[in-house]
Amino acid sequence: MINKTIPLSVPNLSLEILENVKETIETGWVSTGGRFIQEFENKMAKYVGMERAIACQSGTAGLHLALKVLGVEHDDEVIVPTLTFIAAVNPIKYMGAEPVFMDCDDSLNMDMDKLEEFLEYECEFVGGQVINKKSKKVIKAIIVVHVFGNPANMERLMKIKLKYNLKVLEDATEALGSFYLEGEYVNRHCGTIGDIGVYSFNANKIITTGGGGMVVSNQLELLEEIAFLSSQAKTDPLYFVHDNVGYNYRMTNIQAAFGTDQIDRLEHFIETKEKNYNLYKEAIENIEGLTILPFRADTRANYWFYSIIIDKEKYGVDRDRLLKTLNECNIQTRPLWGLIHKQKPYLNNQGYKIDKAYYYEQNLLNIPCSSNLISEDIKIVIKELKKFTVEMMRGN
Ligand SMILES: *Cc1c(COP(=O)(O)O)cnc(C)c1O
Repeated sequence: MINKTIPLSVPNLSLEILENVKETIETGWVSTGGRFIQEFENKMAKYVGMERAIACQSGTAGLHLALKVLGVEHDDEVIVPTLTFIAAVNPIKYMGAEPVFMDCDDSLNMDMDKLEEFLEYECEFVGGQVINKKSKKVIKAIIVVHVFGNPANMERLMKIKLKYNLKVLEDATEALGSFYLEGEYVNRHCGTIGDIGVYSFNANKIITTGGGGMVVSNQLELLEEIAFLSSQAKTDPLYFVHDNVGYNYRMTNIQAAFGTDQIDRLEHFIETKEKNYNLYKEAIENIEGLTILPFRADTRANYWFYSIIIDKEKYGVDRDRLLKTLNECNIQTRPLWGLIHKQKPYLNNQGYKIDKAYYYEQNLLNIPCSSNLISEDIKIVIKELKKFTVEMMRGN
């Protein structure tokens, strides 16, 4: 009998953060000004190897402002994967623009072959702009998501970007700490290669500030604009002159007080996550009908979320039966997100040859992966995963 709950993905917070929080209380700097914000921005920029980073309220807020400064306008289109968390897509609608959905490949990231095929055959290139033949709308940008921390094929994507003159927004909300070990972008972090990259510090991400986000770019004028828009676009902060419609999207000093501590622990979290992944991998490789999805070998991934694929015929039961059984013994697991092109707000949007994403939607399960997971927990999960195989052999 298992009494303890093994959570899917929970924060790994240190009580040392209280020192920082105490300072925010004592100084009164609890809102969108204060030393922790700048300190966190500096640490983040240094960590991912960029000159500057801008902290904001959430990853979603960062993505919204990124689309705005990249020039996505009403009636434009933006290419985005259907296999993602919906927060990567909603900001397109905030801009009055529309998404066009792409399929995934076996890394769960955007299928670059299909992307190129779509641009080549389904679009026209007129006056430096890409026009979608079907909708007659201008395609401005591509949002690429590094799903579960596994780096997307940026080498390929940046070539496509150049060829078609498109903006690339990297949703690196799940991929803080992942970087490339080979090729053109060797040692470059996910999020630092496209025009703009966005990270998230929501509670289930690899580090957390409760809620929060960070935007990076090599184009400092874009970051400047994002910083400006995120604080109500004050053209003159003393006399409160506003020449633009701004947003209240700036990170608070309390959030940043968490962030400055969490980022110091990130490398340690990744080390633990990689070690735990390998423990699962060894065991799962010996379970008939189960596969654990790999992270790219030519990268140093952050091992954020672990995914197993269930082959119903070989394993004996399907994903949903396994999910239910694990949840009944207090092991929290989760199916893949519902594909976004099938969600109500997006039913009228175009999807291009979506095929593989359905397979993963049906057969993938995320298993406990918190950075404070201990090897005893992993043994319990593995024991439960093996149960069905044992039952099969007994002929049940
Ligand atoms: C978490 C996440 C976001 C949004 O981040 P928030 O900080 O929660 O707003 C966006 N895209 C993806 C793929 C995510 O996983």
